[in-house]
Amino acid sequence: MKETLLEKAFEAMNNAYVPYSNYRVGSCVLTHDGQYFIGANVENASYGATNCGERSAIFACYSHGYRQKDIAGIAIVTDGQLLAGPCGICRQVLSELLESDTPIYLSNKKEEMTTTIAELMPLSFGMKDLEDRM
Ligand SMILES: [Zn+2]
Repeated sequence: MKETLLEKAFEAMNNAYVPYSNYRVGSCVLTHDGQYFIGANVENASYGATNCGERSAIFACYSHGYRQKDIAGIAIVTDGQLLAGPCGICRQVLSELLESDTPIYLSNKKEEMTTTIAELMPLSFGMKDLEDRM
């Protein structure tokens, strides 16, 4: 699973639209029923409208009707010097859209790491914090 996810994420990275940062990220989500959803970062002149690769991939997955329990893993890759740990916005999104123990595979072809959103974002804020308000 991990090797195919990483391979597809690196393929997706080639589609990154990054005229401002020239920092390419690719991502791929695998569902338990064997579907792959790729994403790449897509920048915008307004900067704030930029979408990261991992959010692109997981939004594509959710757009096809899949949910947390359906996701087997996600790869997030870059050709940068350091691993592309998810940014703060992506950690918030992943904390809601992934199960806490779903494997997150990071690679830049020189280094690899397997982690989870629970490790990346302890004490996260989420739906559980709002349950008594709903
Ligand atoms: Zn991000």
